[in-house]
Amino acid sequence: MRISDKLLSLAERAERLVEERWKEVERTAERNQWKVIESFRRHQVSDFHFNGSTGYGYNDRGREVLDLVYADVFGAEAALVRPHFVSGTHTIGTALFGVLRPGDALLSITGRPYDTLHKVIGRPGDGKGSLQDWGIRYAEVPLNPDGKPDWDAIREALTPDVKVVAMQRSRGYDWRASFTVDELSEMARFVKSIRPDIVTFADNCYGEFTEEREPTQAGIDLIAGSLIKNPGGGLAPTGGYIAGRADLVELASYRLTAPGIGGEVGSTLGTMRSMFQGLYLAPHVVGQALRGSIFAAGLFELLGFETQPVWNAPRTDLIQAIRFGREEHLIEFVQGIQQAAAVDSHVTPVPWDMPGYEHPVIMAAGTFIQGGSLELSADAPIREPYIAYMQGGLTYAHVKLGVLIAVQRMMDKQLL
Ligand SMILES: *Cc1c(COP(=O)(O)O)cnc(C)c1O
Repeated sequence: MRISDKLLSLAERAERLVEERWKEVERTAERNQWKVIESFRRHQVSDFHFNGSTGYGYNDRGREVLDLVYADVFGAEAALVRPHFVSGTHTIGTALFGVLRPGDALLSITGRPYDTLHKVIGRPGDGKGSLQDWGIRYAEVPLNPDGKPDWDAIREALTPDVKVVAMQRSRGYDWRASFTVDELSEMARFVKSIRPDIVTFADNCYGEFTEEREPTQAGIDLIAGSLIKNPGGGLAPTGGYIAGRADLVELASYRLTAPGIGGEVGSTLGTMRSMFQGLYLAPHVVGQALRGSIFAAGLFELLGFETQPVWNAPRTDLIQAIRFGREEHLIEFVQGIQQAAAVDSHVTPVPWDMPGYEHPVIMAAGTFIQGGSLELSADAPIREPYIAYMQGGLTYAHVKLGVLIAVQRMMDKQLL
């Protein structure tokens, strides 16, 4: 893994360029670390909370306290944090199915949701038990060309059957800016000013701890996210969380298990220690990943590529998009990230038709937790204009290495 002197000095230039932004990231990590520890203190987290339970998992005190801690940290009335959520999609689906009933409508106001949610929304009569198959109508308001909400269209789309208005914080696989907590808050206020009874929901995946506030601290009723992303701190082996208004979290709990059972059962086996410790580490690790994303944005800008967000833009999620314009660059980039991994560095990612995605996708994921994307990873749908989305990194040094190897590969192949 030879990195040329020319590239190393370019990397130094990029680091000097982005230094000021790094300081802001440090500040956010510090404040969020304090917030998490304060909550652990308030709930007197103790060694015995880490033991876990078996069978029904009645009176699993660790599980109960973890719910309280999450609720606290996210400024929510309640939270449901479980290893039984198999993924972010499952978690978000559980929240939506928990709250919506046949005859209701779900309205997305931030355009098309993340790819894996398309089949959760489904089509009427698809026979899969999707939201629309259950008679829940779905509508979406595309974003304006500038990536901002289309206020007039949102107002018009708020028909009487709309019960949940959904927003997505992170850009996902879109070349738009992600929505800051302030922007989500503005959208929620707008919706409530027209229809105070509507439930506002935010897909919070990739957003946690990138700002000092979460959407639930800014007027959003319900959020959901994955524990193999930010709040798991790289340690949680699986799981998801739902947080927000207590009545809504309760409804989601009936969907996760069964009506009448809800969140009061569910053995946690051996997952509790890593879920607590992961949450404790999450603010710091998210800060490391953000440092890496900002560095990558700075370096690729120096190399003449377009990035989103640019290095000096405010961050509200982990995703760094780089527009390569050519498939060759994109594939070198993703393979370079894989080559830098501590796990599975010897495999070469190639595009494949991944379940839940609509285009072939190439993914670099050399991770300790399978698919864990708080760990350094990169994905790209193989479609024009060949944008790579990189995210995560448990340590800044690792992200830097990954980016440098990727660029070195392009240089070696005379692509730069
Ligand atoms: C990752 C992600 C999801 C889905 O999570 P999975 O764990 O991949 O199912 C949903 N929305 C956004 C914005 C995401 O980043």
